[in-house]
Amino acid sequence: MTNYSIIIPSYTVGPEAYKEIPRRCAHCGTNAVVIGGQKAMAAAKEKLLAAVADSPLTITDFLLYGTEAAYECAAVLEENPVVQAADMIFAVGGGKATDTAKLVALHLEKPYFTFPTIASNCAASSSVAIIYNPDGTFREFVHFLDSAGHVFVDTDIIAHAPCEYLWAGIGDTYAKYYEVSISARNETLEHFLAMGVMMSRMCLEPLVNFGEKAIADNRAGIASYELEQCALTIIITTGWVSMLVTRRHNMLYNGGVAHALFYALCNLPGFDETHIHGVVVGFGCLLQLVIDGDEEEYNRLRDFNKRICLPVTFTEIGITLDQLESVLDSLLADEDVEHYPYQLTKEMIMKAAARLV
Ligand SMILES: [Zn+2]
Repeated sequence: MTNYSIIIPSYTVGPEAYKEIPRRCAHCGTNAVVIGGQKAMAAAKEKLLAAVADSPLTITDFLLYGTEAAYECAAVLEENPVVQAADMIFAVGGGKATDTAKLVALHLEKPYFTFPTIASNCAASSSVAIIYNPDGTFREFVHFLDSAGHVFVDTDIIAHAPCEYLWAGIGDTYAKYYEVSISARNETLEHFLAMGVMMSRMCLEPLVNFGEKAIADNRAGIASYELEQCALTIIITTGWVSMLVTRRHNMLYNGGVAHALFYALCNLPGFDETHIHGVVVGFGCLLQLVIDGDEEEYNRLRDFNKRICLPVTFTEIGITLDQLESVLDSLLADEDVEHYPYQLTKEMIMKAAARLV
C-alpha cells in the first residue's frame, strides 16, 4: 500500500471573521502580501488592516492580480520583490484573483490564506486552479496545489457583493451533488471518495432550503443566517467535496451532463460571452435528471429554479433543439461524462431535451 495525505482547509465564517487572522496565520511568519481583485481589495482592505493592527503581523502591500488567472499574470507577481519577501500570501477576491494568487504561492513555495469576497465558487477552498490564457480563453487545470492554510469568509463583505455571483454560484454548486452522485452510482468506493460522495449532498440541501431567502438578503445587503449557510455551501462544501473526489482519481467523479452541456454550447459563436457558467450548469442539471429518469428530483429542482429565476427551458438560455443537436458530438466527448453509470447516447439527450423546450 502507498501512503497518501488528505488535507482539507479549515475556515472561519461571520461578519468579523478577519479578526481570527493573527491567531490562524502567525505560525507562518510576520509579513503577508495581499494579492486580489480591485473591487475585492477595496471592500476588504480596511478590515484586513484593522485585523492585523496590534499584532505581530504586517501587510506589506496590496497588489492587483492582473487581468486573468494566467501564468503570465502570476509571473509578474512572482518577480515582485515584495511578493518574494513575503512569508505568506493573502488571496482576496473571486475565483480568478484567488487562482492567480494560488499559482504564485505554488511557484514561490509560500503558504497562502484565502479571503473570498463573493459567494460564487470554491476557488478559496479547493486545491485546483483554473488557468486561462491572457486573452481569456481556457488553458488548463492545475491540480494538487497545497490547499489554503485557512479560509476567512466575511459574510458582511459577501452580503454587499452583487447578487448575480450568489445566484449563479447556486446553480454551479448544486450541480456538484447531481454530477458526483450519478457518476459514482453503484460503486464501492474507498474512504475519501465515499466521504466526498456522501458530503456532496450538502452541496444541494442548504441551497434549496435557504437559497431564496439568501438571494433576497444579498440584495438587501444583510449578512443573515441563510446567506451564511449558502455562502458556506458554495465556498467551502464544494471545495471539500472536489478535493475528496478528485484525489488520486483526477476528474473521474467530478462532472456530468450539466457541465458537458455548458462546454458543448460554448462551441456556438457568442454563447460563452452572453451566458453565465453557473446559470447554464444549473439548467443542465434538469437535463441530466430527465435523462436519468428521476422525475421526483427533476420536479423538485425545476420548482426551485423557478423560485429563484434560474432557467428551466432551452428557450430561456436562447438555444433551439437544432443548435443542441449540432454540439452533441462535443458533449459526448467531454471528459465530464467519460465516467458515467450507463452509455449516454444522442437519442437519449434529444428525447430528454424535447421536454425542456
Ligand atoms: Zn462549474
